[in-house]
Order: sequence, then C-alpha cells, then structure tokens
Amino acid sequence: MGKVAVVAVGGNSLIKDAKHQSVEDQYDAVCETSRHIADMIELGYDVVITHGNGPQVGFILLRSDKAIDILHPVPLDSCGADTQGAIGYQFQMALTNEFKKRGINKKSATVVTQVVVNKNDPSFKNPSKPIGSFYSKEVAMERKEKEGWDITEDAGRGWRRVVASPIPEEIVEEDAIVTLIKAGFVVIGVGGGGIPVIRDEEGNLKGTAAVIDKDHASALLASNIKADIFMISTAVEKACLNYGKPDEKTIDTATLEDIKKYIQEGHFKPGSMLPKMKAVVSFLEKGGEKAIITCPEKLKDALLGKTGTHITK
Ligand code: ADP
Ligand code: MG
Repeated sequence: MGKVAVVAVGGNSLIKDAKHQSVEDQYDAVCETSRHIADMIELGYDVVITHGNGPQVGFILLRSDKAIDILHPVPLDSCGADTQGAIGYQFQMALTNEFKKRGINKKSATVVTQVVVNKNDPSFKNPSKPIGSFYSKEVAMERKEKEGWDITEDAGRGWRRVVASPIPEEIVEEDAIVTLIKAGFVVIGVGGGGIPVIRDEEGNLKGTAAVIDKDHASALLASNIKADIFMISTAVEKACLNYGKPDEKTIDTATLEDIKKYIQEGHFKPGSMLPKMKAVVSFLEKGGEKAIITCPEKLKDALLGKTGTHITK
C-alpha cells in the first residue's frame, strides 16, 4: 500500500445549495469532487472516500411519507443502505470517467457498510437527532402510536421524529475495505456514518433506527485501517478560532493538545465543526499522525502544505 488517506466529504460535496438538489445536480457535484480526489491520487495517495447522507435520507423519508397510503414506509437503516448505494454509484461513475480522462490506471468500488453500535448506548434512552419532515402534532402523535417513533417539538417549527446518535464501535466490512485498498481500488465506504446495526444476544446483526455521525465513523475507519492521513473536506478552507466574530482567526497548524483546549474554550459549533474536531482528536489519540480540515477545492493544495488546518499529535 502507498500512503492511505481517508477523506470524509461533507454535504457541500454532494449538494451545492437548495436550488441544486436533483439527482443530476448531485452527480455534477460528485464529478467536481472526484476531480479533487483524482488530484490526490496523482500525488500518490490511496484514497478512501466517506460521505454524509443527511439530505438524501431526508428525501427518501419525504417520498416514503407522501406515499404512505399506497406503499410501505422505508426503515431508517434501509434509507442508509439506499443512499450508500446511490451515492457510491455516482462516485464510481465520476471517478471512472475522471481516471479515463487523465490516464490514471485505477478503479473504484463502493462497500455498503454496516457499523455496529451498542444497544445500551445512552443515546437510545434519550434520542435527540431530528430526522425527516416536520409534522403537525396530530400526525406526529399518530406515527408515534403506529410506528413507535420518538417525537419532539422542534423550535416552534413543528413536530419531528428524533432518533439516537450512538457511538460507532465496529465497522463490519472493514476487512473488505482494506482488501480493496490493497488491491489498488479507490474505496467509497462508511457512507452517512454507516448503517447502524446492533448485535442481539446471539450475536446476530440487526438494523436499528439511528444515525451515526459521519465524522466520527470516518475517524474510526481511519484509525482502524491505520490511515496515514485523515482529511475532512467541508464548506470552509480552514477552521477558525472565534468563528463568525470580529476577532475571528484561522487555524493553520495545531497540535492535539491545542485542539482539546480550543474545544474546551467553545470555539467549534456543536453539530458542525465540533464533531469534526472530536473526530480528529479521536483519530490522533488512537495513533493517527495527521489530520487536515479544508474544502474540496483545496484538497490538493492542503496536501502540499499550502492551506487548510493541519493538526498533528
Ligand atoms: P459537513 O456537511 O461538511 O459536515 P457542516 O455544516 O456540518 O459540514 O460543518 C461545516 C461548517 O462548520 C462550516 O460551514 C462552518 O459554518 C461551521 N463552523 C462552526 N464552527 C466553526 C469554526 N470554528 N471554524 C470554521 N467553521 C466552523
Ligand atoms: Mg456535518
């Protein structure tokens, strides 16, 4: 194996904005991201791509809701599998075409990935991650009754289903991913943080209605496969201190200890930059050497040390 880079691509690599959400628009965005991935490969990296799936799961749930009178609903774990397949397909096609254009002798493959979570994870007792559409109280109560949903009132905007966001513990298809990297494939895996599954008393796997944070699951994959570098590709070129404030300052380089301190000081917003920084901390604490946070267009420059937020042990 060469140097292995795990790249967690964020929502902005798949959906540019609210006006560009169709499947065709998403493919265009994936083509653009694939050009940046090809740049990384030309620098000599073996790349594993992980990605988010929040909006895509939302679309499936909305379709499923609208069709509730004529068709069965789609369980959340199945939404995860559907989106991993569909997004993986787009990456495979885009990468194949990009490699052909550049004369890169590489192939890609998607691994539909299950991620084991603990059925006793505290988040199952207190589900708080809102998913899918907003409902009237009446409809929300009905779904609670019929389908056992946990529901919550979301900031005056209506009622929503909430699910657990448990900690990822084990990547079931990890060996398959490693085998493919060793065989020279660009692998797309752990999409959407992985399909959450639990182990029952007999040790059998069972899909569960939860969502796993994609940054956290990507960090787990990166440390388990001993990736040389963990990259988080998101909407900002660099992470900042005092983000959005007049004294905002970009972070060019930082150590693990610096990042822990910045987390304590509250520089990173929960739900966006905080999970990324926690993922970076977990990667470095488990033996990873280097993590970079930047935007898709800057992946290559960041690897060349020209930009991005570089975090080392
Ligand atoms: P992704 O889809 O890539 O996971 P998120 O929206 O979850 O993207 O997280 C990226 C966002 O984090 C940025 O667009 C930015 O608005 C926000 N953010 C929060 N805190 C910071 C910070 N300290 N520095 C930079 N960006 C931050
Ligand atoms: Mg995010």
